[in-house]
Amino acid sequence: MNRKQIEILCSSCGRDTLLTRTPKYDGFVKVGELLKCASCGFEYASESEVPFKNVQSLPKIFQESDYSRKPDVFCNDEKGRMCLHCSHYVVNPFSQRCGLTFKSVEATDSCNDFKRKQDKEEQDAEG
Ligand SMILES: [Zn+2]
Repeated sequence: MNRKQIEILCSSCGRDTLLTRTPKYDGFVKVGELLKCASCGFEYASESEVPFKNVQSLPKIFQESDYSRKPDVFCNDEKGRMCLHCSHYVVNPFSQRCGLTFKSVEATDSCNDFKRKQDKEEQDAEG
């Protein structure tokens, strides 16, 4: 296996081919490499000009910040008094109504008789 052969899309002949690297000597001193297209022999001046086929590192799609983002949570303001979160709120397939006044309501309504719906665990504990 010749690790020095790397797939390229030659910018000269347009072929899907290989890059050949040949050591370049100045006398007995290696001064660099000749980077040539294996198909047409086009010589690339430097590594940065070589049209490598396989991009070394793909950009990261997900960033660290995407994972650490926390969901928004309602605080104890007007939104926290919505019928949706009220223990009187009754919803069935045809209507939404208040179990206290029996008036039809919207989930986003709020009223003075709001009573926070307790978590299921707490309800079970009450018996
Ligand atoms: Zn070529």
